[in-house]
Amino acid sequence: MPRLSDRICTLNDAGSDGWEVFYRAREMVAAGERVIELTIGEHDIRTDASILEAMHTSAMSGHTGYAMVPGVRDLRKAVAQRVEQRTGVPTKAENVLITPGGQAALFATHMAACQPGDTALYIDPYYATYPGSIRGTSAVPHAIRTRADNAFLPDRTELATAARTTQAKSLLINSPNNPTGTVYPRETLMDIADVCKQEDLWLISDEVYDTQIWEGEHLSPRALPDMAERTMVIGSMSKSHAMTGSRVGWIVAPKEAITRLIDLATATTYGVPGYIQDAALFALNAGPELEAKVAEPFARRRDLVLGILADQNTVTAIPSAGAMYLMLDIRASRLSGRDFAERLLDQHRIAVMPGESFGTSAAGHIRLALTTDDAKLAQAVRELCAFAKDLSQ
Ligand code: PMP
Repeated sequence: MPRLSDRICTLNDAGSDGWEVFYRAREMVAAGERVIELTIGEHDIRTDASILEAMHTSAMSGHTGYAMVPGVRDLRKAVAQRVEQRTGVPTKAENVLITPGGQAALFATHMAACQPGDTALYIDPYYATYPGSIRGTSAVPHAIRTRADNAFLPDRTELATAARTTQAKSLLINSPNNPTGTVYPRETLMDIADVCKQEDLWLISDEVYDTQIWEGEHLSPRALPDMAERTMVIGSMSKSHAMTGSRVGWIVAPKEAITRLIDLATATTYGVPGYIQDAALFALNAGPELEAKVAEPFARRRDLVLGILADQNTVTAIPSAGAMYLMLDIRASRLSGRDFAERLLDQHRIAVMPGESFGTSAAGHIRLALTTDDAKLAQAVRELCAFAKDLSQ
């Protein structure tokens, strides 16, 4: 076999993708064991039947050929209107590229922002694919560490220093955040915007959880003064409409950037299937009730878990205000997040993600995905707390 490129061989730099507990839990389930899985960020409900009917109708009426590469005009318009309504920033169809999910948008935005060898900043803890997405574009990922006692929010001075010393070209942020559930307050976003302007960075704002806000409100940094011209926003139907498998999302960016991103889409994905785009358009037009229905179980389960945690003092939750996750501090158990998760799986058949799977800042923590029914979730959290307490004594 001829040699494979260094780029592809080093995509997964650490040699481990941090999902071992997840894979092991899946193997146990396949072998017939009962495991409570709190690992993956995927709804326990399926895509709403009305969306699937729209998909079916579109496909049956012939929308199965190549679709427009930048996206179906009406969907681009609907996304633009949605973004304009929510942020007040004037947004046209020309500012929108439809992508096969947020993941493809993460890759494309870094392709647009960085030359090979340029530094791309991102915040630790982070969604597991970030460094690989950046490396895939031949940019160099540089993580900015954060601290649990500051709710994993980035510090302005540290950001500015990192940007300057690495001569970074982009900064990737994610609010509401996976894995922590943190929603960045206005002051943090203002600091981030200032650093981006001072250091001439592109801000890549991953907002795929923007419909999952339990406290306060979501603020898109594209709406901050002078930020629309240097911000690329990533959106997705995956989390807002339980459409993870449909692979449809978008990038909102300055028109000139979208023009180039369309060239990239032509050279790579060649667009998103027309019947999927029609289903996405139907779903967006279905209005906020459908989105609220998809988000509601996570709000309820978050309260449920916080209620259980209030009755003990070994495990504490990182203050969170959105997304389908809770990050728990299990340092009192004297185990690393990884050892805790491995032992919890072996001894209690409960699968959670080690904080270490999301970088170094969340060591000694575990992430719960609130994607299992309430009764099982409550049982798992009670067992988890008892397990941590035993270890702490
Ligand atoms: N960003 C974040 C923070 C995520 O958690 C995910 C999915 N788990 C994605 C992007 C990608 O989602 P998708 O490609 O399904 O839109």
